[in-house]
Amino acid sequence: MASILVTGGAGFLGSHLCERLIDRGDEVICLDNFYTGRKANIRKLIGNPRFEVIRHDIVQPIYIDAEQVFNLACPASPEAYQSNPIKTIKTSTVGMVNVLGLAKRCNAKILHASTSEVYGDPEVHPQTEDYWGHVNPLGPRSCYDEGKRVAESLCVNYSQAHGVEVRIIRIFNTYGPRMDPNDGRVVSNFVNQALRGESLTVYGDGKQTRSFCFVDDLIEGMLRMMALEHDPGPVNLGNPSEYTMIELAEAALKVTESKSEIDFRPLPTDDPRKRCPDISKAKSLLDWEPKVDLLTGLTRTTEYYRALAAGTESLP
Ligand code: NAD
Ligand code: UDP
Ligand code: UDP
Repeated sequence: MASILVTGGAGFLGSHLCERLIDRGDEVICLDNFYTGRKANIRKLIGNPRFEVIRHDIVQPIYIDAEQVFNLACPASPEAYQSNPIKTIKTSTVGMVNVLGLAKRCNAKILHASTSEVYGDPEVHPQTEDYWGHVNPLGPRSCYDEGKRVAESLCVNYSQAHGVEVRIIRIFNTYGPRMDPNDGRVVSNFVNQALRGESLTVYGDGKQTRSFCFVDDLIEGMLRMMALEHDPGPVNLGNPSEYTMIELAEAALKVTESKSEIDFRPLPTDDPRKRCPDISKAKSLLDWEPKVDLLTGLTRTTEYYRALAAGTESLP
């Protein structure tokens, strides 16, 4: 049994992680400022004697003890992170310093949730970990992309200067139950639009690609990465099956059995044209690869959104 701090623990990925850690017998402190996180995500864990919630913002220092830290605090949807860009940068810079300072003081191992966005609009495809990226440092996505790049640099420097044990994962688009239905990300938008019989809002010509990983697969990879004895540098975690947004829209219509139409909308500034992880490193180091295909994952996500819309208490 380990005592584990999960920052961003009430968010989409964080809540699934907290649940997995509690299920295997760990003590979990979930720290969250509830900016995009929701109490409903962790409702099932409240009352468990090994689970504790602290409302706190990592931009402010915090002195608590932990043996391991998973640093997930940061809004992830473009709408959420661009609605308060300075706060987003502070979370990935000042917040990251505080979390690393805590890990240093506690001699705790820390896993940091980085992102495929460090590759920007990539010129190397699929993206390998040694690619340095193609990020616009001034555009509307830079608060997130550049913040996450600084966060990686801080991790590496705390490791080298202070011997902090760091693990960096670069997460590619991940979806599943508990993704906020209103956070503007493409999977939550398409599935909910399809369920409501509204047009699916495809941005641009819909030929841009993404690779979608189901949440259970991602959490498994995250846990294997934390368990690794040595620091292998950043590791991509994602599903290498690549889809255009039109293909995703068609898949959402299929699993929801919806007759909704497709409505083309303007492409947001700096929207990456393609994205697909090279997961060779994760395969060989972690013996990990995603198991849930898109239609299966979308079906499970749809079940969640149906239950949410119906106000069902026993949400997945
Ligand atoms: P999310 O928005 O659901 O979760 C983020 C959580 O962090 C929320 O609970 C939010 O309230 C909390 N938070 C934000 N700023 C904070 C702060 N300053 N102090 C304390 N808590 C704060 O997003 P998610 O999809 O669960 O993403 C979790 C992490 O994984 C993020 O760091 C994100 O950048 C990273 N990531 C996610 C994806 C993905 O596709 N889901 C892809 C790449 C990277
Ligand atoms: N910090 C924290 N919790 C801790 C230890 C440190 O929030 O348990 C913060 C504190 O604000 C500190 C920062 O992390 O300024 C960086 O810590 P570090 O030890 O690297 O640097 P210093 O204390 O010299 O600023
Ligand atoms: N997108 C879309 N319709 C939507 C929301 C997003 O076509 O309603 C597109 C968006 O332009 C991008 C892709 O879907 O090309 C993924 O967007 P998301 O915000 O989920 O994540 P990103 O990978 O851009 O951070």
